[in-house]
Amino acid sequence: MDLTYTEEEREFRARLREWLGKTLPELPARPSPDDWPGRRAHDLGWQRRLYEAGYAGLHWPVDAGGRGATPTQHLIFLEETERAGAPYVGANFVGLLHAGPTIAAEGTAEQRARWLPPVLRGDEVWCQGFSEPDAGSDLAALRTKAVRDGDEYVITGSKIWTSHAEVADWCELLVRTDPGAPKHRGISWLAMPMDAPGVTVRPLRTLAGSTEFAEMFLDGVRVPVGNRVGAENDGWRVTMVTLSFERGTAFVGEVVACRRTLAALARTARANGRWDDPVLRRRLGRLHGEFGALWRLTQWNVSESTRSGGVPGTGGSVFKLRYSHARQELYDAAAEVLGAAGGALSLDEEWTLDRLSSLSYTIAAGTSQIQQNIVAERILGLPKGR
Ligand SMILES: Cc1cc2nc3c(=O)[nH]c(=O)nc-3n(C[C@H](O)[C@H](O)[C@H](O)COP(=O)(O)OP(=O)(O)OC[C@H]3O[C@@H](n4cnc5c(N)ncnc54)[C@H](O)[C@@H]3O)c2cc1C
Repeated sequence: MDLTYTEEEREFRARLREWLGKTLPELPARPSPDDWPGRRAHDLGWQRRLYEAGYAGLHWPVDAGGRGATPTQHLIFLEETERAGAPYVGANFVGLLHAGPTIAAEGTAEQRARWLPPVLRGDEVWCQGFSEPDAGSDLAALRTKAVRDGDEYVITGSKIWTSHAEVADWCELLVRTDPGAPKHRGISWLAMPMDAPGVTVRPLRTLAGSTEFAEMFLDGVRVPVGNRVGAENDGWRVTMVTLSFERGTAFVGEVVACRRTLAALARTARANGRWDDPVLRRRLGRLHGEFGALWRLTQWNVSESTRSGGVPGTGGSVFKLRYSHARQELYDAAAEVLGAAGGALSLDEEWTLDRLSSLSYTIAAGTSQIQQNIVAERILGLPKGR
C-alpha cells in the first residue's frame, strides 16, 4: 500500500488551499447562535460557494451529482477546510451528511435528480424526523402512522428533537405503514415537505439557550407515495443506511476541528502557565493520542465505505462511541486550561457553548449505551442481552 500523496493529490491540496485563502476572507460574519434564518442563509451561502468552485459533494457518486473524488481527496478536503477555519456544514448537516447520501444510495434516478442537486447547490435544507416521545433508543417502536389514500400517504403523529426543523424545507421522516407487522417490518422512509398543510413545528430550548431543535406535530399531512425512498415497509433497512452515514462519516470533519482545538489549547496552556501542571499535560497528551487514533479510524472508515459501495457499516458505531466521549473530555480539559486564565467562568461564549453542546454528543445519533450494544452484538458477536 502506498501511503504517500500522488502528484495529483498534492496539486488538489494546493488548489484548494489557494481557493480557501482567497474565499474565506470574503465571507460575511457568522450570525448570532439563535438567529436561525441568518444561520440558514449563512450556511447555504457557504455551500453555494463550494458548489460554484466544484467542491460540493466531492466524494458523492457522479450519477448523484457528486464529483466522484477519491477517499484521499475527500480527506484532504476535510483537512484543508478545517485547517483554514472554513465554516461548518451547520444547517446542511442532515442534507449533506445523511439524508442526501441515503437518497444517493437508495433513491430512484428521479428522486436523486429531484432532491440531491438542491442540497449540493445550497438551495434546500433537510431535517430528520426519526425520534418520537416514546421511540428514541428503541426507534423501531415509532408510532407516527401513514395511511395510504390513492397516490398519497396521510400522516398523523408527532416527532421530537428534530434539529433545524424551523429552517428546513424537507424532512427525512419515518412512519409506520403497517401497524399489524412486527415493529421493524412496518416502517417506511419518506421525504416530507416541511411546508405541507398539517405540519406544526414547536421549538425546544436547550440548556445552552438555543432553539436548535423542535417538536413536530403532524396532523393529516399528505405526502405523495412517490416521496417514499425504498419499498413500502422496508424503511428499517433504509434507516440503517441513514444511521450508518450519521454515525460513520457525518462527524469526520469535526475530528480535524478537535485536533485544531487541542493544539490551540496546548498553546494557551503554555502561555497562561497551566502547562506547568503535569497532570494537565498528561491529559492533553492523552487527548492528542486519542484524536490521532480517531483520525486514523476516520481514514479507515472512509476508505472502507468506498470499498463497500459508499455505505459505511457498523464500524461507524465504534467511531461514534469513542469520538463523542473524546469530545467531552476535550472540552472538560478546555475548561481547566481556560478557567485558570481568569476565574472559573472565564470561557468566552463559543467555548461555553461548545462545552455545553459536547454533552449532547453521547445522546444524539444514538446513545453510547446503544452503540455499545451494537459493538457487542454485531461486531464482537456477544450474546444479546434480555
Ligand atoms: C443534540 C441532539 C440532536 C438530536 N437531533 C435529532 C434529530 O434531528 N432528529 C431525530 O429524530 N432525533 C434527534 N435526536 C434524538 C436522539 O436520536 C435521541 O435522543 C436518542 O436516540 C436517545 O433517545 P431518547 O432521548 O428517547 O432516550 P431513551 O431512548 O429514552 O434513553 C434513555 C436512557 O436509557 C438508555 N437505554 C435505552 N435503551 C437501552 C438499551 N437497550 N440498553 C442500554 N441502555 C439503554 C439510553 O442509553 C439512555 O441513557 C437528537 C438528540 C440530541 C441530543
